[in-house]
Amino acid sequence: MTAYLGYRCHRCGREFPPADVFYTCPDDGANLDVVLDIDQIRATSSPEAIAASGEPSIWRYLPLLPVLKPGHQGTPLWAVGWTPLFTPARLAAKLGLRQLWIKDDGRNPTASFKDRASAVVVARAQEIGAGTVVTASTGNAGAALAGMAAAAAQPAVILAPRRAPPAKVAQLLVFGAQVFLVDGTYDQAFDLAVEAAGALGWYCRNTGYNPFTAEGKKTAAFEICEQLGLAVGAKDRDDLSSGRGTGSGPSPVRWIAPDAVFVSVGDGNIISGLHKGFRDLLDLGWITRLPRLIGIQAEGSAAVYQAFVAGASEIQPVHAETVADSISVDLPRDGLRALRAVRETGGTLLTVGDGAILQAIRELGVVEGIFAEPAAATAYAGLVEAVRRGMVDPGERLVVLLTGSGLKDVRAAMQAAGEAPVIEPTLNALKSSLGRG
Ligand SMILES: *Cc1c(COP(=O)(O)O)cnc(C)c1O
Ligand SMILES: [Zn+2]
Repeated sequence: MTAYLGYRCHRCGREFPPADVFYTCPDDGANLDVVLDIDQIRATSSPEAIAASGEPSIWRYLPLLPVLKPGHQGTPLWAVGWTPLFTPARLAAKLGLRQLWIKDDGRNPTASFKDRASAVVVARAQEIGAGTVVTASTGNAGAALAGMAAAAAQPAVILAPRRAPPAKVAQLLVFGAQVFLVDGTYDQAFDLAVEAAGALGWYCRNTGYNPFTAEGKKTAAFEICEQLGLAVGAKDRDDLSSGRGTGSGPSPVRWIAPDAVFVSVGDGNIISGLHKGFRDLLDLGWITRLPRLIGIQAEGSAAVYQAFVAGASEIQPVHAETVADSISVDLPRDGLRALRAVRETGGTLLTVGDGAILQAIRELGVVEGIFAEPAAATAYAGLVEAVRRGMVDPGERLVVLLTGSGLKDVRAAMQAAGEAPVIEPTLNALKSSLGRG
């Protein structure tokens, strides 16, 4: 029994029962939001019950997801999510901020945020008895689908652009997917995956096409609120025990929404998934307001940003070119819902240049020991830009979502970090080179 009722088209508002559609609105091709029975969830689950489950993965939120409990416990399929929420004190001090958190989703089984979506899609594929699953991907979504599919013994086909970073292609191959490098752009691979799924009867995971990806991605919003509740609650208890209060006994489980969340935007499916997650929690009454969602695009791949500043209701494609390959997208496939996420939460969109992205990789690494791929560091570069422009208050609760590990793109990491000097194996050579490395 799940709370899953069906779908609602974000454009025309038409609703569909689960069995009627698989992907987008049959009337206008727009993306579908999954509709859940919020009353049922409220009656059968609670923050206390979720905390009591102790499940250290996205599956702790099963009552809020449109899928049944997947099999394959004890595999990486059950190690997705519940990633750390760091308190980066030195970066916060540098930026003059008092309440900053960094959620490191590079610490997922295949080292990116995409595992959240792929795990839920694989659970769905099993429920509907799908044979082969397929996706187009700039790399991470494919690696995540290949990894989750391998964990669940599900055949997978991945279409990636020929220029995808080698580490991501290696992951695809190691996970045993059938991999095809498309001699073209991600956008061309996307269309091919849709066509192949239709012609060959595969289940298509494409981002901004399959409604279940956003349902997986929304789990990050749940974790942010639950973990922030724990962090702030612990601080309150410290204050109490240091004599500033008189409370005693266990404190109630409290979920807390931050004031703003910074996240990078390519297709726009992560930000719209986060929006869905925060809205679910608001509907349930588990949080009291939505955080501002701040989407960051690379200057060279800024189709959603351009539509936002133009006040447009359609997205014009660009010719994308950026070091942040995971957000290099000509035509964002979930761009309209990304715009909705930003507009409905009082958030905004910003762009940052490749230089700022590489600088952000360095700062995260040097100052906090966090290794981010370019598209992940983009979110932090966006925070730096927002602080520079005075768009955040120093005392606000801010969360930066890092979406992928630096190991995903070693070439870009070396671009950010530079080269190490080569020396003779002697103490003298070491001494005379010290401070120059
Ligand atoms: C996919 C991805 C993004 C962007 O997500 P969209 O849904 O395309 O906006 C950001 N960072 C990383 C590391 C990704 O893999
Ligand atoms: Zn529609």
